[in-house]
Amino acid sequence: MSIELNETHDAGLRSWVDSANTGSTDFPIQNLPYGVFRRIGSHDAFHLGVAIGDQILDLNAAHASGIFSTHQGKQFDLALLSDKLNGLMDLGSAAWTALRLTLSRALRAGASQQTTLQACLLPQDQAEYALPAQIGDYTDFYTSIYHATTVGKLFRPDNPLLPNYKWVPIGYHGRSSSIGVSGQQFHRPVGQTMPPAATEPVFGPAKRMDYEMEVGIFVGNGNAAGERIAIGQSEEHVFGLCLLNDWSARDMQAWEYQPLGPFLAKNFATTISPWVVTLEALAPYRKAWTRDPADPQPLPYLESEQLRQSGAFDIELEVLLQTAAMRKDGIAPQRLSLSNFRHSYWTVSQLITHHTVNGCKLRAGDLLGSGTQSGPTPEEAGSLLELSAGGKKPLTLANGEQRTFIEDGDCIVMRGRAQKPGTARIGFGEVSGTLLPARALS
Ligand code: CA
Repeated sequence: MSIELNETHDAGLRSWVDSANTGSTDFPIQNLPYGVFRRIGSHDAFHLGVAIGDQILDLNAAHASGIFSTHQGKQFDLALLSDKLNGLMDLGSAAWTALRLTLSRALRAGASQQTTLQACLLPQDQAEYALPAQIGDYTDFYTSIYHATTVGKLFRPDNPLLPNYKWVPIGYHGRSSSIGVSGQQFHRPVGQTMPPAATEPVFGPAKRMDYEMEVGIFVGNGNAAGERIAIGQSEEHVFGLCLLNDWSARDMQAWEYQPLGPFLAKNFATTISPWVVTLEALAPYRKAWTRDPADPQPLPYLESEQLRQSGAFDIELEVLLQTAAMRKDGIAPQRLSLSNFRHSYWTVSQLITHHTVNGCKLRAGDLLGSGTQSGPTPEEAGSLLELSAGGKKPLTLANGEQRTFIEDGDCIVMRGRAQKPGTARIGFGEVSGTLLPARALS
């Protein structure tokens, strides 16, 4: 079942929050993404919030003002007064739709709630964020065939794309404990690598540090253990999407990944954006999903009419780099690549259905990574490993610095946006993270 367009998507809607009406903000009234925030530097409790223009509507304060009086039930109250989105995620898609409608009407120009809600706003530049949800389990997929093929060539020149790729959405279980929110800083990891032409591994800081531009998928209400989520219902179990940077140590990965997949090369840090954009907000930007007729078509449990009509998401994904020298000189982050989520070989709905086909239980707040989203051309690659051809072709930045992999002090910024003629332009805000030098070996 796909989400219908409704009055909340109307491109003509304006908000009484002026900064939501600029046409260039990521957060017009048609978006209304959720996050968890507090006043920066304070010891206040974190509250749920909704981004509107350059402001955040505090849902805890808005609840106290009585604007949600038509939403009945203790579960709803507990969910809104929480410091995590899990309770709201667990309420299910009918409750999400009802809440979005209430927020949309209350934030519109001319709304009677304006005076009350003006006192519930905090400017985003005065906020700090926490992870939007308590993430129970984290699974990372590998859904870009362009990324899989390019990386496969670097790791296995004779055998780039393994034969299961076109049949089964490939994934592995990651680690939720190292996921942080935008602004995350972490030290260059230390571990084992096998240098070229060496016969024994060496121990020390990773030398080939990389990012991966991914879309994060937050599970809403989960499934009971043993029950499958059919493809026709899978999107009802998705709360929303965010931006995700899956930091990767390529030299550690190359040495450790066979035969069981990524381990220490991937579990030291993963960074996500603070705002979760709901699937309902993304409804206008859906695209037909296609599979090359020359390729195997999905097995029946991963196939549906709705998937073919609108299974893909048209979301632009941008990666930018700001080196320490650029930051010192006041130079803005420079774009490294621009891709789009619509190129994904597997869809969000297929990932949910495949994940639960064996009876695996998903829970509210579980996070799935889409895998690196590289597009069909080399410039659309979602990692430095691809952009630098495995470290062989350095990128030269506008200030003359060169990069094959991430250097200490580099800040990676990712942004996402969706736009279409006749609709509002909505965005994901950004996710940024900075690599610090390795801790001293002792
Ligand atoms: Ca990944």
